[in-house]
Amino acid sequence: MPNSRIDIETQCMEKGMRMTEQRRVIAAVLTNATDHPDVDEIYRRASEIDNEISIATVYRTVRLFEDAGILERHDFGDGRSRYEPLSDDHHDHLINVETGEVLEFNNEQIEKLQEMIAKQMGFKLVDHRMELYAIPLDESDR
Ligand SMILES: [Zn+2]
Repeated sequence: MPNSRIDIETQCMEKGMRMTEQRRVIAAVLTNATDHPDVDEIYRRASEIDNEISIATVYRTVRLFEDAGILERHDFGDGRSRYEPLSDDHHDHLINVETGEVLEFNNEQIEKLQEMIAKQMGFKLVDHRMELYAIPLDESDR
C-alpha cells in the first residue's frame, strides 16, 4: 500500500534512532519495496547501492526496525521471515505457493466477520492476521 506508506528513515528519526549511512540505505530499500522481501533480498538490493553492507548489518538493522515497531515481519510458511513497512491501511495477504508471490487484499466482509466471531466469543477484536495460501486457477476453473 505505497500511498499510505511512511518513509522509514523519517520514522527512525522520529524515534530518535541514530541513522548511519548503511541504515539509511537499508531504510530506503525497505521504503521502496512493495513485495515483502526477506533478508537475503533486502541484502541484495542494499548491496547494489552500497557494496560494503554486510548481511550481518542487514540482519541487525531489520531487527532494530522491527523492534522499534517500524517494520512488520511475516512468516508465509516457507520458513523465511519477510518484511514490510507498517502501514496505516490494514491489508491481508494471499500467497501464491507455486511462485512465492505475495498479493495484498482488503475485504470488508472478512473484516466484519472476524469482529463478529470475536464478539460472539466475548472479545473485542484488536488485531488479526489472515493469510490465504493458493495456487493459480487453471483456465478451466475460471
Ligand atoms: Zn503486505
